[in-house]
Amino acid sequence: MLLKGGTLVHLHPPAAARADLRVEGDTIVARATRLTPAPGEAVEDCRGRLILPGFVCAHTHTYSALSRGMPGPAAAPASFPGMLRRVWWRLDEALTDEAVYYSAMAGAVEAATAGTTTIVDHHASPNAIPGSLDIIREAFGVVGIRGVLCYEVTDRGGLRRRDAGLAENDRFLSATRADTQFRGLVGAHASFTLRDSSLAALGDLARYHRAGVHIHAAEAADDEERTRRERGAGIIDRLERHGLLNDRAVLAHGVHLTAHDLARVTSAGAWLVHNPRSNMNNAVGHAPIETFGERAALGTDGWPADMLEELRFAHFREREHLGLRRAYPAAALLEGGQALASEIFGVPFGSLSPGSAADLVVCDYIPPTPLTAATLAGHLIAGVRPSTFTGVMAAGRWVCRDGVPVNIDVDAVYCRARQLAAALWRRMRG
Ligand SMILES: [Zn+2]
Repeated sequence: MLLKGGTLVHLHPPAAARADLRVEGDTIVARATRLTPAPGEAVEDCRGRLILPGFVCAHTHTYSALSRGMPGPAAAPASFPGMLRRVWWRLDEALTDEAVYYSAMAGAVEAATAGTTTIVDHHASPNAIPGSLDIIREAFGVVGIRGVLCYEVTDRGGLRRRDAGLAENDRFLSATRADTQFRGLVGAHASFTLRDSSLAALGDLARYHRAGVHIHAAEAADDEERTRRERGAGIIDRLERHGLLNDRAVLAHGVHLTAHDLARVTSAGAWLVHNPRSNMNNAVGHAPIETFGERAALGTDGWPADMLEELRFAHFREREHLGLRRAYPAAALLEGGQALASEIFGVPFGSLSPGSAADLVVCDYIPPTPLTAATLAGHLIAGVRPSTFTGVMAAGRWVCRDGVPVNIDVDAVYCRARQLAAALWRRMRG
């Protein structure tokens, strides 16, 4: 397929240049000012349109997609751990295989329509562990997006469930070792719900598969406090001790990491994922993203995987925090997700150049002011919206045209999702 006449965008460092692109299979194979269509080649007229690299959501939980509008607990939790106990751990306990499938489907639909072509998911369904990652893989695959999946291992459900979680990660990592659309990470809930023997088992798994851990780190202040009180060491000490602090690790949040621990994380090359909407909604505090370094990305942590929406929250929250005299280039976080996907899949994402993944968004955005490398961030924050997306491509295949997923019947999927959500909420109350 030939995409002709579009303005190709690189998110960070920002760049915008007109060029034609040729896609073969799941890869971009040519880029030039002018490419001539081969006989029989499909041509997409992109004149006057932007072509953005597909977005990557670097941390979320699609299992929470059926929680929208869910009635809250009778008494509002006073703390983040209370919120986990009364809401999110009840939700994951109530998930069935079918609820996992439709949650993943709903999450993938929202991602695809927002131009998010890869989701790094962190899954929990303690009463439906074996095969759960394959269920998510199937749902994402039907919609057409890519996934980096893991099961969040924790001690909170006892050793049998912990071991089932470890086995699910192990199985999925083996099954997707050379997959081009799906890969695994070693999922772990958070330091405060993992004893040393569990972290040691996670470390063994990570070493065996040469895969990174994907874990919540210092999301709320309690994680570090409880870890120190109950385990006698800090979060970062424990990750390091068990061989989990390295350049493959994906640490979500990092809100309460000290400057000293942040320096250790960045010097180890671990990824930090910022989730501003979730942080604000859970009132866990301000993440010091200005010190996260280059290996930082953006996640949505259970909110729809609309990365431009998340970018706006990142921008405004940081602007408020830093004041007028300092600026933070939040758009760099979007490119961070693409760099993370590049490392996991072993193929460049985000560059729209030959050899790169054919994951892209064609956007019918007419800028009311000049669109250049210097102004791109302003257009991303204030102008470009998913409603202007005419095509979203993942792994060389269209997954959405004019805002509509092309591979599934969304009405039918959402109809079943609503039934399952109502049943899920009833089980949570029971
Ligand atoms: Zn999370």
